[in-house]
Amino acid sequence: MSTITGKEQINNSNKLSYLKDFNEVFEFVKFSVNSAYKMKRAGLSLMLHRMPTRVGAYHILGSNVIAVNSFVLDLVKKYSTSNDEYNSYLFMVLLHEYLHSFGILDEYKVRWMSVELCKKFFGEKHTVTIMAEDPLKIFPQLGLISYDKFENEFEIIKNFDNTNQTYIQ
Ligand SMILES: [Zn+2]
Repeated sequence: MSTITGKEQINNSNKLSYLKDFNEVFEFVKFSVNSAYKMKRAGLSLMLHRMPTRVGAYHILGSNVIAVNSFVLDLVKKYSTSNDEYNSYLFMVLLHEYLHSFGILDEYKVRWMSVELCKKFFGEKHTVTIMAEDPLKIFPQLGLISYDKFENEFEIIKNFDNTNQTYIQ
């Protein structure tokens, strides 16, 4: 992985805290993965899905879909004390699934790559780096809530545009 200066880490941290929506955070994830690992791909769709709390997000193998648990996301939004914390969670969760979408299935490897990227890109002490190690370190409340249902409603957030469409299945 190429080296990044302390100044770039501060710029990256500032940028993360100001990102406004799902698409902007995902673009930043893609940029960071390309800088860190020289890996890029296009055409992914993001999907919000209310599902059991034990599933933070998932990638459907062989598909272009990354799904994020919107039940957990709502809790994260509620517990976040800053935009920085919320965006850090979003970044971490999208980064994890984006790495899976390259066909890297090994959980340990994806987690390790995520932590390494966050350390280099934002610094060891940044919220996003701590979250990449363990989200419960920042949001211990998440460990106390248990929700056990996969709902049949999805919100698809398409990449590269800002139009959100809701599909009921
Ligand atoms: Zn995973």
